[in-house]
Amino acid sequence: MKLSNQEGQRLVAAMLAMRPDWIPNQPGKLLREANDAGGLPFAQDFGHVLRALAAYATEVRPDGRHAKRTPNLFPADGKHWTSTATDPAVLPRGPACEDHAEEAAANCRCCQADVKVGQRPATHIGKHYQPESETTA
Ligand SMILES: [Zn+2]
Repeated sequence: MKLSNQEGQRLVAAMLAMRPDWIPNQPGKLLREANDAGGLPFAQDFGHVLRALAAYATEVRPDGRHAKRTPNLFPADGKHWTSTATDPAVLPRGPACEDHAEEAAANCRCCQADVKVGQRPATHIGKHYQPESETTA
């Protein structure tokens, strides 16, 4: 989902309220860039964004220190999105794989398996790929 200007400002304020140490990381710039690139791909709605932020920003390691040192990976896929979704079954997953419609193109497990066994170049995860050996059949 794309953030409105008001949502973006509120999100930055919430981020810095939870993590004042992120001021040098310029989370406003980070979110603006994510929004320009299509928004937050794993967010269901603004409530989900806020829950995911709380999970991401306040996660602590066993030693009590913050697990996330920067806000940089907040827009990316992670358990902060999956664990805070109201219904994980309807989580936005981005476009489908061109060869495996049941998988998301960004991290298609079928394509990754093909890459591991040498049947698909790593550049074609989520993209249609026809091996040369099959084009003449
Ligand atoms: Zn695939």
